[in-house]
Amino acid sequence: MPNMADLPPATLHLRIDPEALAANWQALNRLSGTASAGAAVKADAYGVGVSQAVPTLLAAGARDFFVAHWSEVPAVLRHASPLQLSVLHGVTSAAEAAYSRAIGVRPVINSLHQAQVWHAAGGGPCDLMVDTGINRLGVTPDAVGDPAIAALDVQVLLSHLASADEDVALNARQLARFRDVAQNVAHKALSLANSAGIALGSDYAFDLTRPGLSLYGGIARPELAGVIRQVVVPHAAVIQRRRLTAGESVGYNATFTARCPLEVATVSIGYADGFLRCRGPGGVLLHKGIALPIIGRVSMDMTVVDCSATPDLREGDLVEIPFNLPEVAQSSGLSQYELLTTLGKRFSRAT
Ligand SMILES: *Cc1c(COP(=O)(O)O)cnc(C)c1O
Repeated sequence: MPNMADLPPATLHLRIDPEALAANWQALNRLSGTASAGAAVKADAYGVGVSQAVPTLLAAGARDFFVAHWSEVPAVLRHASPLQLSVLHGVTSAAEAAYSRAIGVRPVINSLHQAQVWHAAGGGPCDLMVDTGINRLGVTPDAVGDPAIAALDVQVLLSHLASADEDVALNARQLARFRDVAQNVAHKALSLANSAGIALGSDYAFDLTRPGLSLYGGIARPELAGVIRQVVVPHAAVIQRRRLTAGESVGYNATFTARCPLEVATVSIGYADGFLRCRGPGGVLLHKGIALPIIGRVSMDMTVVDCSATPDLREGDLVEIPFNLPEVAQSSGLSQYELLTTLGKRFSRAT
């Protein structure tokens, strides 16, 4: 094997603003009133990167973290203690239960079967998810009287809101069901609200809130606009600048043809990086605030822009990928969640 030289800097970079991330957690913690805000850090902290996000959130004051899969646990435990972490998908097998007990990370028990798996492994402190109306994951309210549930050592009793980002009757219905269930299950703490649920008001906060999206700059409800700051700004390098003559086309399937001579730049980002094809038509990249219209199809590793407006743009320069989440969600048809969590592995992630 030849000597490995240092890897050169990536031509794709996720600029992460740790102050904005910390300020967002603090704002959500404040809005949670007497409850404290935890942090959903599943899916690599929504694409931001656990190794960036978790230390920042800890320093800001967050103490309770949530991931979905057991595979996500080790990365979080490099920064947080096992007692601070819960796994939302719970334990579906003896192997998962054994792992949970060995490392001391709590499962969120979601069904009678999971409760039985947990007891069979020896049990211990756990969380419990009750399904109050999303009908996705969780024990139904009428099953909480089952002996397998009653025998659990429940730390946090949770439920999850289906439509907290909308003003619908389901929110109050879920709240009422959750209050009922809380009467019937022994627990140390109660947790209902996600990011949008926090903005529904103090009734929804209980002891612990579980924001995800809005930590990372997503505006889950209009009340959070002006409170939540943008955290992530992707940048990509220009890898070629060229001049097209009239009649030449650009990209796969030649969907764009130059009507007149045109200056174009090829940028090192594509759909493999989460910059999906729907970001192309009508979209722009930015150089020093100047909009560079995307032309032709977004391909796997490259996107071409019209750079006539920036004669100084050179190969090697970084351009900005617009990432104001509510705006880009509106223009692309993707959700703010999808925009964050599809950010690819090729970005270097640093402040
Ligand atoms: C993902 C998730 C959250 C965080 O939700 P956001 O809408 O991103 O704030 C909270 N609770 C549960 C159970 C989740 O799965």
